[in-house]
Amino acid sequence: MNKKQKKMLVRIIVATVLMIALNFIPAKGATRFLLYLIPYIIIGYDILIKAIKGIKNGQAFDESLLMAIATIGAMALAIYEDGDYMEAIAVMLFYQIGEWFQSYAVGKSRRNISSLMDIRPDYANIEKNGKLEQVDPDEVGIGSVVVVQPGEKVPIDGTVVVGSSSLNTSALTGESLPREVSVGDEIISGCINITGVLKIKTSKEFGESTVSKILELVENASSRKSKSEDFITKFARIYTPVVVYSAIALAIIPPLVRMFGMGLGADWGTWIYRALTFLVISCPCALVISIPLSFFAGIGGASKEGVLVKGSNYLEILAQTKYVVFDKTGTLTQGVFEVNGVHHNKMEEKMLLEYAALVESASSHPISKSLQHAYGKEIDRSRVTDIQEISGNGVTAKVDGTTVAAGNAKLMKKLGIKYMECHDVGTIIHMAVNEEYAGHIIISDIVKPHSKEAIAALKAAGVEKTIILTGDSKRVADQVAGYLGLDEVYSELLPADKVSKVEELLSLKLDKAKLAFVGDGINDAPVLTRADIGIAMGAMGSDAAIEAADVVLMDDDPLKIVKAIKISRKCLRIVHQNIWFAIGIKLICLVLGAIGIANMWLAIFADVGVMIIAILNAIRALFTKKL
Ligand code: ADP
Ligand code: MG
Repeated sequence: MNKKQKKMLVRIIVATVLMIALNFIPAKGATRFLLYLIPYIIIGYDILIKAIKGIKNGQAFDESLLMAIATIGAMALAIYEDGDYMEAIAVMLFYQIGEWFQSYAVGKSRRNISSLMDIRPDYANIEKNGKLEQVDPDEVGIGSVVVVQPGEKVPIDGTVVVGSSSLNTSALTGESLPREVSVGDEIISGCINITGVLKIKTSKEFGESTVSKILELVENASSRKSKSEDFITKFARIYTPVVVYSAIALAIIPPLVRMFGMGLGADWGTWIYRALTFLVISCPCALVISIPLSFFAGIGGASKEGVLVKGSNYLEILAQTKYVVFDKTGTLTQGVFEVNGVHHNKMEEKMLLEYAALVESASSHPISKSLQHAYGKEIDRSRVTDIQEISGNGVTAKVDGTTVAAGNAKLMKKLGIKYMECHDVGTIIHMAVNEEYAGHIIISDIVKPHSKEAIAALKAAGVEKTIILTGDSKRVADQVAGYLGLDEVYSELLPADKVSKVEELLSLKLDKAKLAFVGDGINDAPVLTRADIGIAMGAMGSDAAIEAADVVLMDDDPLKIVKAIKISRKCLRIVHQNIWFAIGIKLICLVLGAIGIANMWLAIFADVGVMIIAILNAIRALFTKKL
């Protein structure tokens, strides 16, 4: 509870006690009114001020005005009839209780999101003359060595140069198992160091580090509004004035009709009371408050699971996803290739691997990383010049002045080099040295442990089609797709072909069924942006993916895709429940109010009761563990 909430709570308690106590004081007439005015002012002064300010600023029709008119009207009516002041005070009191409850709930879910924001490191340790000095992470340059002690957050992305330890990544990924790291491992900022002291050579500036990117993303999430939220805002803008004018009509027309039409008593009191009840019932706060809160809680709940959603609009689209298109490498497969065989003719196997590792030295493709790893030795980058990476084909470069090419059959054809077909299972990397074929390296990737389960779970969750797009050969693609049970396979695609394939799929489907593309962000950023919704996985450390995607999965477990869809659906279910529930109850009460069955107490329930129930329902979106 913050200061404002505490102050409000005191006002609520004081006003309630006074209101009840006044029932036992036998005052009459003006004294009674003045006595009751005290709790009314205590509880409602800020609403009255807001209403007046609203009128002055020309934005009269808001909830404060509704509440002000309704309660002032009820007070006036009570003076006139020397009747019950309780109702007017109760309307204000319960409205404030609702507001208090709302601010508490919003604060609570905000804190929940900021527990994710706890990843922000406050300092970085730099070693100077044998002593540790704490500096602002912003001031640490690339290539500096920072020391991270047990219990501290890793401030900046980098590579371990000294030490080994386990890292707690749960704030980033929702994964509770610690990750073991030692010399040579890349680690990202925001993890908490648990056991050993680590020295890290930074590879990025703080502003470019994972932590900063994620914080930026979460902080901006509330600015992208869903259709439901837009609808509610527009709805309230029209609805509120309509309600006020209807209430005025309800107060004036029937008595006038009675007066002139039938010559009977006008009975102004009854109709004004009905109009005031009508006003209280129709207050739209349950909707205006609970819908954004539901989305907010949904985004918060998702981020606890390591699923970062960039805005509530994306949560809405995710819930309608019927087609899931996957990139293969690094998404459904691990993207860590093992070298299974080397077929060479002119040079030794070791030599061929060395050329492969060198020519790949600048690429960030999983294939290149694996070839460098297979070579196993330090790579002297100064031996490599004129590097050209041809997306979806391979790489060419000069190694010690000799032209070397490494890539698929497409690349060999492009270079006009006669290559040998190979029928081994796996991805074939053909090598040409000095414009002559030098053999090929057979590598293979393994399917991620949860891929099969994830595809089955997507189907069980009602996703109509699962599709794989890959630049890899048809043989490998068909094998992976068959094993995983995907519905459609498109292989040997260049990155640009992937975009046109996704466009084709988009044009074939119904508008309401949304298409999600899941990639790792390495050379598939264009597709990520083109799909209805782009999901990047394994995004720890890859800013390209974080930027291009709409939903970012912090780790690379494909089951998280199912989780993300389930979270979004639960959130949208809650949104719809709240819309129908609030509008439904209000409509019923409005009719009852207009025909005179409803009194002010029912109106208070229709307003504040509905709002509190809707808020409690909204909060459920935070809970995502069991999905
Ligand atoms: P995917 O769709 O599976 O992610 P890519 O579009 O990244 O695949 O690559 C498609 C194919 O292009 C690879 O299977 C490989 O044959 C070739 N290729 C791409 N980049 C490289 C590289 N750096 N080195 C060698 N071959 C590459
Ligand atoms: Mg790829």
